[in-house]
Amino acid sequence: MRTETDCIFCRIVRGEIPSERIYENDLVIGFRDIQPRAPTHVLIIPRVHIASLSELRDADQSLAGALLLAAQAVAEQEDIVLNGYRVTTNTGAWGGQTVDHLHFHVLGGRRLTAMG
Ligand code: AMP
Repeated sequence: MRTETDCIFCRIVRGEIPSERIYENDLVIGFRDIQPRAPTHVLIIPRVHIASLSELRDADQSLAGALLLAAQAVAEQEDIVLNGYRVTTNTGAWGGQTVDHLHFHVLGGRRLTAMG
C-alpha cells in the first residue's frame, strides 16, 4: 500500500492521529474536518497516499469512483441530501490545497455561498 510516514492524513488512516471517523470501506475513509466550515464538513480520503487529484491515474478508476460514492453516502448519512450540499477538492497552491493527500470536502447543513 502506498503510504507516507509524515503525511498527516496517512497518519489518520493508520490511527496515529485521532479523528472522528464516520465512514470507511476497503478503499476510503471519511472523518470530520478539524476546522469545520459548515455544520457538516467531512473529508473523504483514499487509504493509499495520492498527493492530489492531479496524481490520479487510469489504474485508480475504482478508487476515483469509491471516493465519489463515499461522498454521496456521507451526505445521506448526514441527512443533507434534501437541502443540498457541496463536494470539492482543492488542488495545488492556487487551488487552496493545504494537505498534500487527496481529499474531497463534503459540506452542508447551511446555505453555501458562491465559490471562488
Ligand atoms: P485543503 O485546505 O483543501 O487541503 O483541506 C485540508 C483540510 O484538512 C482543512 O479543511 C483542514 O481543516 C483539515 N485538517 C487538517 N488537519 C486535520 C486533522 N488532523 N483532522 C481533521 N481535519 C484536518
